[in-house]
Amino acid sequence: MSLLVIGSLAFDDVETPFAKQQNILAGSGTFISISAGFFAENIQLVGVVGEDFGEKNLNLYRERGIDISGVQVVAGGKTFRWSGRYHYDMNSRDTLDTQLNVLADFNPVIPHAYQQAKFVCLGNIDPVLQKSVLGQISRPKLVVCDTMNFWIEGKPKELQETLALVDALIINDSEARQLSKDPNLIKSARIIRAMGPKILIIKKGEHGALLFTDSGIFSAPAYPLETVFDPTGAGDCFAGGFIGYLAKAGEVNDQTLRRAVLYGSTMASFCVEKFGVERLLDLTPLEVGDRFQSFLDLSKIDD
Ligand code: AMP
Repeated sequence: MSLLVIGSLAFDDVETPFAKQQNILAGSGTFISISAGFFAENIQLVGVVGEDFGEKNLNLYRERGIDISGVQVVAGGKTFRWSGRYHYDMNSRDTLDTQLNVLADFNPVIPHAYQQAKFVCLGNIDPVLQKSVLGQISRPKLVVCDTMNFWIEGKPKELQETLALVDALIINDSEARQLSKDPNLIKSARIIRAMGPKILIIKKGEHGALLFTDSGIFSAPAYPLETVFDPTGAGDCFAGGFIGYLAKAGEVNDQTLRRAVLYGSTMASFCVEKFGVERLLDLTPLEVGDRFQSFLDLSKIDD
């Protein structure tokens, strides 16, 4: 089923204790759409870039079958830029710089062909823009939303308005504590679910992810990787794998949600193996299937 994705399209500068790279093709919209493309067929991307983005980068989405008729190219504009530095444990990072550039004045216009999308992923972007997308489309089967500390701190009221309209929220543990103003994740989940999203996923980095629904809690492990090269985009790849799988399955129920969490974790585990989308670009569906199986095996107990 069709999947509409909105998110940032970016150039990142990333520094880890072990390596450093500049001008990496990134952004939440990039990671989500490429990750979801391993599952969903009809992906419709909404975003904005400057003239500096270049045809070569735009072709990368086209070559992967991602519809970019919803991506605006601003003549003379500069693409969104983000830079961050990871600490030794790679779970914490500092944002060194955020330059909104063309994102600052972005007014997403949803093409007619996108308005009937059955699955919608509101990637990490200004919550005002996330809400504007929902106002332009007919009611989808599932709306998944992602956000980050930048918006929790910067636009709390606008974020609350968006959260009231979404079915599922994906955030990490520190963001959950910040949003709920409670240090306990189980209590946080109750508080956040009361804000709107009945499906809540709290990611805990190298410690896995928790899924909260009306049926209870599901706990997914993280893949035990020896080398984490660049964690940037892991959260977005998780969101892409999660909603991409659901769009492929076409059904949202306890079983498909649990599988979606494991597919999300699978995609995140590949993302961190190289800088930016590099690993996703050489990844094969066979590898995705094998790692998903490894996830199942991680907590399997024989009778
Ligand atoms: P993640 O590591 O999954 O949280 O996502 C990192 C991506 O989010 C990077 O590629 C950035 O370009 C992008 N990003 C960082 N800050 C923002 C922001 N304030 N709005 C939109 N996208 C952002």
